[in-house]
Amino acid sequence: MAKKALVTGITGQDGAYLAELLLKNGYEVHGLARRSSTADVNLTRLQWLGIERDVHIVDGDLLDLSGLIRTVKDVKPDEVYNLGAQSFVKSSWQQPLLTGQVTALGVTNVLEAVRIERPEARFYQASSSEMYGLIQEPMQSEETPFYPRSPYAVAKLYGHWITINYRESFGLHASSGILFNHESPLRGIEFVTRKVTDAVARIKLGMAKELRLGNIDAKRDWGHSKDYVRAMWMMLQEDVADDYVIATGRTTTVRDMCAIAFKHAGLTMDDHLVIDPELFRPAEVDVLLGNPEKARKKFGWEPKIGLEEMIVEMVEADLQRLTK
Ligand code: NDP
Ligand code: GDP
Repeated sequence: MAKKALVTGITGQDGAYLAELLLKNGYEVHGLARRSSTADVNLTRLQWLGIERDVHIVDGDLLDLSGLIRTVKDVKPDEVYNLGAQSFVKSSWQQPLLTGQVTALGVTNVLEAVRIERPEARFYQASSSEMYGLIQEPMQSEETPFYPRSPYAVAKLYGHWITINYRESFGLHASSGILFNHESPLRGIEFVTRKVTDAVARIKLGMAKELRLGNIDAKRDWGHSKDYVRAMWMMLQEDVADDYVIATGRTTTVRDMCAIAFKHAGLTMDDHLVIDPELFRPAEVDVLLGNPEKARKKFGWEPKIGLEEMIVEMVEADLQRLTK
């Protein structure tokens, strides 16, 4: 019998790559997706990977506990990956309450559905390096104290601790991956890497002249989503549930990341880059740098795709998309 997985956030970047991996590993994949009154479920990313017909889509919302209970009861998943969230840091200042309801309390809803209907299922929570926020150690590990700097990060911290709490209170096999930024051609256009690669492709094709960015001195530890969803799956194959940092161990400024994209397109960055004070955030996370040693030692996870290779892949994918 094929193992069954239930993935929330299936329409997002990680949902698509995780579904692809699980299908390759022989799983039956069920994905929770929100209905919109004016459009069909957004299967763009699953279509990009050519797997939209292989995934069973279930209508649902993280805010709707009764629907989640019914879904878990019907699907009877062996593994539940909770990737759904209001995931954009900047929007979380505009929508702090919604962010709290979806990104924080939504986790409890999924955990409750699992606890009530399928306590033997293994559970993965998408925690975030944003929880470290105001950095207290040069390299962040599972032991580093948290200091969230946005409503998003505060909500993720709640999700992180409620996952640990359900593990300790009810013995659920619940693990939390503290993932550092990870990107790909499927990344949402509002995030800085994709905003850059899309703009560079537009400038190259003569469709735009400038790229407006905020704080380009911020540093991030960027990896590839494909590598990071593999870590999620590996984590759930461990006999004992635990929390793991997933990162590359290398940090780069937004400026230098941006330079890779311009260079690949044969463009001069200074001719096009404009700093826009409107794009600065009310509070910033200046630098993130993760230590993935625990995941490497415990289950042998290592990233395979480097930053340069990833940015080049993203620029090429955006050029291809825009040319079509
Ligand atoms: P995306 O923003 O691409 O995807 C978010 C998903 O959540 C979408 O499928 C979205 O659906 C869904 N969603 C939003 N609100 C709800 C809701 N109320 N009910 C059900 N589903 C909802 O994020 P990523 O794929 O990049 O990230 C996956 C997870 O990992 C997220 O939780 C994110 O916060 C977390 N994370 C991501 C990192 C990164 O660098 N990518 C780093 C660390 C953590 P819809 O299409 O309907 O909007
Ligand atoms: P985050 O780390 O989850 O907030 O991921 P983002 O990709 O949204 O932002 C990464 C960093 O890039 C943050 O420090 C932002 O302040 C910085 N940044 C600078 N300009 C921009 C911009 O125009 N858009 C976004 N999204 N981020 C920007």
